[in-house]
Amino acid sequence: MTSVLVRYHEIALKKGNRPYFVDLLRRNLVSAVKDLPLKEAKALQGRLFLSFADAPNVEEIKQRIERVFGVANFSFVEVAPLELSVLGEKILRAIDGRSFSSFRIETTRADKRFPLTSPEINRQLGALVKGKTGARVDLKNAELTISVEILPNHSFFGFNAIPGPGGLPVGASGRVVSLISGGFDSPVAAYRMMQRGCRLIFVHFHSAPYLDKTSQEKVRELVKLLTRHQFASRLYLVPFGEIQRQVIAGVLRPLRVVLYRRMMLRIAEAIAKKERAQALVTGESLAQVASQTLENMAVIQQAATLPILRPLVGMDKQEIIDQARRIGTFETSAIPDQDCCQLFVPKHPATKARLADVEKAESPLNLAALTQLGVDQAELEEFKFPGE
Ligand code: ATP
Ligand code: MG
Repeated sequence: MTSVLVRYHEIALKKGNRPYFVDLLRRNLVSAVKDLPLKEAKALQGRLFLSFADAPNVEEIKQRIERVFGVANFSFVEVAPLELSVLGEKILRAIDGRSFSSFRIETTRADKRFPLTSPEINRQLGALVKGKTGARVDLKNAELTISVEILPNHSFFGFNAIPGPGGLPVGASGRVVSLISGGFDSPVAAYRMMQRGCRLIFVHFHSAPYLDKTSQEKVRELVKLLTRHQFASRLYLVPFGEIQRQVIAGVLRPLRVVLYRRMMLRIAEAIAKKERAQALVTGESLAQVASQTLENMAVIQQAATLPILRPLVGMDKQEIIDQARRIGTFETSAIPDQDCCQLFVPKHPATKARLADVEKAESPLNLAALTQLGVDQAELEEFKFPGE
């Protein structure tokens, strides 16, 4: 039998809601391994315990659990009775064949009725392992960490816990609409909000047939990658070219990007209301490009009433790129494409748009009708992980 013990910390802080959060994490873990031979998944004294039928793909289980937000760390474990001699025997058998020059034992005693304290257990098991292997004890930089957990009915042990992504289980913080563009920033922004427990609904604006379809293909791939963390996603693909054509008629070029962005927010907000989402998420980073000055952000945001979350606002481009590499979206974002905001705009858009000018430029437009057009023409695609 292959068993995994999953540890969490942040969710433990949410006192009143704790059982809800733990069960949400449990359900998300079950979703993450849905197609693997899972036998049970249950809460055990501040941890979650998963067991799989014999001979599953251990590396695959590891990769799946590594992506579940809310997991602080986890270990593949063996179960032993609450008897130190038997536990010691089992540990010795399990380390047989492993080579390591230093080790430490780390015991947590969830059941205080067990007669020995954690330091005493560490000492006794440590002496046993040292006697058998000759390896030295190193509390700071051990090559092998043997973790032991004492629960009311049995104990567990495992080696070198694997770090999880931390954060909160997806769904714990509500639903938000993520504006995703195919660039580097918005997928990272989406990831960061998911890590804070949000379930994301994706919206992408494209200018086909005026521009090519690369951005749509990139966004599908990005949503597919991100769905590995939330298991099911919806992507709205909004044809934006015709709306752009109407929006900019008679508008001076420098203001156009600001008008596009306001229109995007209106449509995204309408989709958010339909989806019962509570906020919008963008990949904006202060002053990264002309449309992201404080002045422009302020003018753009006034087109929406829902809060706009900008998890990257204080990050450098390099930090964002580094994170894109870590979360696996870099390669897809790097593919060249034609962004819809390039349609009918100059190289140098306004950096300090004024609300009065923008509102004047919008005054001849039927904004509600344009918003509805975007919503009506949006194509909905669904993504699932693991796939069927
Ligand atoms: P990104 O790297 O995410 O493309 P960017 O640096 O290119 O961002 P902008 O083009 O100003 O910056 O876009 C800022 C944010 O607006 C994006 O991060 C995204 O959230 C949203 N956005 C821009 N273009 C689109 C689009 N075509 N579809 C959906 N959202 C978009
Ligand atoms: Mg972009």
